[in-house]
Amino acid sequence: MTVPFIDLKQQYIALREEILSAVDRVFESTQFVLGKEVAAFEEEFAAYSGAGYAIAVNSGTSALHLALLAAGVGPGDEVITVPLTFVATTAAVGYTGAKPVFVDVDPVAYTMDPRQVEAAITPRTKAILPVHLYGQPVDMDPILAIAQRHGLAVIEDAAQAHGAEYKGRRCGSLADLGCFSFYPGKNLGAYGEGGLVTTRDPAKARILRMLRDWGAETKYNHVLKGFNYRMEGVQGAILRLKLRYLEAWTEARRAHASAYARSLEASGLLLPLEAPHNRHVFHIYAVLTDRRAALMKSLESCGVQCGIHYPTPIHLLPAYSELNYRPGDFPVSERIAQSEVSLPMFPELTAAQIERVSAAVLEFENAYQY
Ligand SMILES: *Cc1c(COP(=O)(O)O)cnc(C)c1O
Repeated sequence: MTVPFIDLKQQYIALREEILSAVDRVFESTQFVLGKEVAAFEEEFAAYSGAGYAIAVNSGTSALHLALLAAGVGPGDEVITVPLTFVATTAAVGYTGAKPVFVDVDPVAYTMDPRQVEAAITPRTKAILPVHLYGQPVDMDPILAIAQRHGLAVIEDAAQAHGAEYKGRRCGSLADLGCFSFYPGKNLGAYGEGGLVTTRDPAKARILRMLRDWGAETKYNHVLKGFNYRMEGVQGAILRLKLRYLEAWTEARRAHASAYARSLEASGLLLPLEAPHNRHVFHIYAVLTDRRAALMKSLESCGVQCGIHYPTPIHLLPAYSELNYRPGDFPVSERIAQSEVSLPMFPELTAAQIERVSAAVLEFENAYQY
């Protein structure tokens, strides 16, 4: 029996009746796009995140694009972000015509290093876009202080951080705007694509609602150049019912992380740390090793499926060669990209599966010592 990296089927089996009746309700209503279920999901997610307003869209990438536009980012501007993330963070900056400017991540937290931000600010800088990577909240207070001093917007990429908390407040409510993804494998996943922007500013909320629906203030009255970024009714209905389980799923992830930490304590791997003021939600359980290729091959032969998040930092990807970065520019991100392994992590993981993964890791590590 293999241990999968992620298992979405089990969740569907557990929720099947509820999901099918939610889907049927949407089909019966014929509100296939936006509609009452999406509006209800927005209200419920706004309350959950503590941000005030929530605007549902059709992907996390669309959420980032619109949040940047709502922050006033456009051609000629610069946005400070990190190279250790999924490509969408950087791509969304490009969609606005602005230029991504990278700063390295912190070697312990793996998220934006606040000590490097100020040196990256230029007269063109418009916004800072930190990423709550793997489900660990960024150390936001120093970043918000820098932004305030320089009059910059701060946008959270919370695509991996549903329910994560920084100093008792949820991600998505910490800055000017927050961006979530509901891609199926995320901690809160749709049955298709989905995303959402949070904000506490009613004026930005209004602009975001227009931008996602062709910039229309009322039907056919297009006051802004907008997009077709609307969420589907079916996704809203499914996300609404799944939101009720998110806290239980998050606690399960945290318990699995504790179990891994106990059984892998002596393994020699560098295990993820939770900053004292954080609630980490373990979208990814990331360990670091100097022997990644050999470890992954060994785990594979034991039937343990793993992942890498991410093998190449964005500044070294061919698609972004135009930014003219070089190997060595962001050594911490590069080291993590070379040594990270993502162990199986999903709420339905069993104690027996965690034991199997841990045993396979320990077997490899012990064999290597001789
Ligand atoms: C998944 C993800 C996105 C993009 O979300 P999509 O819904 O796939 O468009 C953006 N940023 C990060 C950090 C992500 O993990």
